Amino acid sequence: MTKWVYSFGDGLNEGRADMRNLLGGKGANLAEMAANGLPVPPGFTITTEVCSAFYENGRKYPADLQAQVAAALQRVEQSMGLRFGDADAPLLVSVRSGARVSMPGMMDTVLNLGLNDETVEGLARSSGDARFAWDSYRRFIQMYGSVVMGVPHHHFEDVLEQFKRANRVEDDTAITADQWRAIVVDYRHIITTHAGTEFPTNPHDQLWGAIGAVFGSWMNPRANTYRKLHEIPASWGTAVNVQSMVFGNMGDDCATGVCFTRDPSTGENIFYGEYLINAQGEDVVAGIRTPQPMACARAEAGQHPMETTLPEAYGELLRVRSVLETHYKDMQDIEFTVQRNVLYILQTRNGKRTAAAALKIAIDMAREGLITQEDAIQRVPAASLDQLLHPTLDPKAERVQLTRGLPASPGAAAGAVVFTAEECEARAAKGEDVILVRIETSPEDVHGMHAARGVLTTRGGMTSHAAVVARGMGRVCVAGAGGIHVDYAAGTMTVGSHTVAQGEWITLDGGTGAVYLGRVPTIEPALSDDFNTLMGWADAVRRLGVRANAETPDDARTARRFGAEGIGLARTEHMFFGPDRIGFVRQMIIADDESVRQKAIAALLPFQRDDFASLFRIMAGLPVTVRLLDPPLHEFLPHAEAEMVEVAQALGKSVDDVRARCAALSETNPMLGHRGCRLGLTSPEIYAMQVRALIQAAVMVEKELGKPIRPEIMIPLVATQAELATTRRTAEDEIARVLQEEGTNLNYYIGTMIELPRAALQADKIAEYADFFSFGTNDLTQTAFGLSRDDAGSFLPYYVDHGLLPRDPFVSIDRDGVGALVRLGVERGRQTSPDLKLGICGEHGGDPDSIAFFDEVGLDYVSCSPFRVPVARLAAAQAALATRQKAGQAV
Ligand code: ADP
Ligand code: MG
Ligand code: MG
Repeated sequence: MTKWVYSFGDGLNEGRADMRNLLGGKGANLAEMAANGLPVPPGFTITTEVCSAFYENGRKYPADLQAQVAAALQRVEQSMGLRFGDADAPLLVSVRSGARVSMPGMMDTVLNLGLNDETVEGLARSSGDARFAWDSYRRFIQMYGSVVMGVPHHHFEDVLEQFKRANRVEDDTAITADQWRAIVVDYRHIITTHAGTEFPTNPHDQLWGAIGAVFGSWMNPRANTYRKLHEIPASWGTAVNVQSMVFGNMGDDCATGVCFTRDPSTGENIFYGEYLINAQGEDVVAGIRTPQPMACARAEAGQHPMETTLPEAYGELLRVRSVLETHYKDMQDIEFTVQRNVLYILQTRNGKRTAAAALKIAIDMAREGLITQEDAIQRVPAASLDQLLHPTLDPKAERVQLTRGLPASPGAAAGAVVFTAEECEARAAKGEDVILVRIETSPEDVHGMHAARGVLTTRGGMTSHAAVVARGMGRVCVAGAGGIHVDYAAGTMTVGSHTVAQGEWITLDGGTGAVYLGRVPTIEPALSDDFNTLMGWADAVRRLGVRANAETPDDARTARRFGAEGIGLARTEHMFFGPDRIGFVRQMIIADDESVRQKAIAALLPFQRDDFASLFRIMAGLPVTVRLLDPPLHEFLPHAEAEMVEVAQALGKSVDDVRARCAALSETNPMLGHRGCRLGLTSPEIYAMQVRALIQAAVMVEKELGKPIRPEIMIPLVATQAELATTRRTAEDEIARVLQEEGTNLNYYIGTMIELPRAALQADKIAEYADFFSFGTNDLTQTAFGLSRDDAGSFLPYYVDHGLLPRDPFVSIDRDGVGALVRLGVERGRQTSPDLKLGICGEHGGDPDSIAFFDEVGLDYVSCSPFRVPVARLAAAQAALATRQKAGQAV
């Protein structure tokens, strides 16, 4: 016979905390608490297996369920000395849903079940408090009516409001028994009108009605949507808890409340919570009256902390607080009720907390000896660290929201609105705070984005150019704010009837996507001691190295401050966009006279050398991986008439010639066009210049610092062995020349990106010419899926919404496909050269789930944007611990 029902409380505890799959989180913890001697009103849990069986059998219960419920109910009656449905001393119960994980969308709890016109009189007599009895009855009818019978809430509230107004009563607690009695008549009437049936008066019908409603709610649309969003299988099912009632609404020595064992917003080890005298269930959160604080230390003048109003129960609660924390070894969120000065515990669970609180609690608990350092590492969600590294809006500040977009890059920033990268740079140079507003951004805007405090676009998604670049730079970004109309010509942006002109201030919240008018004050993050402690612990555990993607001195310094162990990707194309260089870059591309072209290239060399030298100085001997020019040349071409004229003059050509040359360079599909090593092969002098600048810089800084510099030259977009072999030869020839000129020697490394499927497949061949591989998972995702990231906005969200893809593959690595290519590349590469250095430098390098995968396949390091470095360090440590635990279990 299957056991469908598990009892808890009063000495019979058939469940345990680790049975949450069967009993749901609520039920499992009720049994665990009761077994540990805490005051839990007795009850029973109907298992999640009943829910599954119910749906498998066409919404019918297992045959023996009824008998098991009856037996469990009888036990509760005995332990309470009351009988369900008894006219003199009725047992009342609550019916509560509870899945494995807490799930909004499930049925709300029904309290005071078992009341009818007869039992309410019994309750009034047995409690000696008619007001309490009728208050409970009206609550029950309203809850049952709305939750089980589907009568909208507001009908009941309307009646109550009207009554209060007519009788000049403000507080529910001031309504008398007789008045509630009259209201109950109205409530019953509402039910008959709106549900079309009478309110059930038989307590057993009520009970099964509520149980059925819980199971029924498992498949309601709200629950289905939530499950889909959170990848919760429908097969898990929900449990139902039936529990004898305790009453917080019996008078002034009664109360109900919610508390946290530590402060859930700061993590401080201070008892935190709220309660209400003479109230029941959700009154505290429903905002019916203003809840009061728990502790005197937390009370302000005029408040009535529980510590003084109910000292006995409060003392008991303090004891429970420490018992529960010691037992669960985590911060607990506790629901309690006080009935005539006696404390009852109705729920406990690990409390939700902010990122700051998670960090503090983990470190404190490890120091208190409650958990190990390894536990602490696993307690802090790696991705949440992001919140701690950026300024945030001052929660106390007033604000007027203008519109909303996607939260594309976290943090908060305020500044004057500008609409071009040039204006942005010019104003920033004068020390102004600016927000760059664009319909969408392109590589030409990068210098402006860098100068801006934040970026706002009206088009594009979470992986749009603006979003990716802004995240990389640690700039705040709100993307795809479609409610905004930008008029570049007028220099305005408009939302509805509200227009913001260039120079007016707005504030972006990159964590929520909100756009506010004017300047909302922000608060700076502080890298707390706790943060550094956690990072230290994580570093001691992780196997993966963590480097940063950085090309500007600013980014490189941020990267080091956050603990990067080198640069894994310095993109050189961003360096080409600087206003002092772009002219030469354009001349280099457009000139057809070889000597003019060589002169333009030579003019670029000192700029590049300076760029590299400053990276080497900042990284002070740590590896610096420089990727040679990657994008197609036409990205650098002039667009505006003035720019055309400028280039034409410099080259002594006509503007028409320049325009024709630009047109000739345009490509149908630039992503798969003349870029990366293809460009390096057809125009070898560009790569030669970059290599020369790099080696000269390395030699120079090596002398300056008196310690070895570690330059790593990375060739992009390699598909074949021949491509790498040839490019490598050209580079090495140039390096030999430079070193001879300098009369010195230098250790350098030449490697390649693995970002095309063919490269992964040919990794054994390619490895013959590579000192290292760096998986470029952005391009590898694009080319493996055959989709362009810039165009994916129109269908990728649909794919994710409809379950065609589990997640956006640009955010979290597609293990099965793109991941398989990485795995293959690793295996084949190492076949050829066992100590080939292996890294990854796509956006995935900062994504905790992807990092777990990279740890698993045995990469040496991940490289991510500077602001993700702490996230990656922690995620790498968590991955290492998970691997260890798996290995431990396998033994
Ligand atoms: P939720 O999952 O939404 O928190 P709960 O089942 O925990 O729902 O219950 C809602 C409210 O009712 C909580 O405040 C809880 O403490 C209270 N409650 C539930 N069961 C009882 C009971 N047997 N006696 C008194 N209060 C109860
Ligand atoms: Mg609850
Ligand atoms: Mg690439």
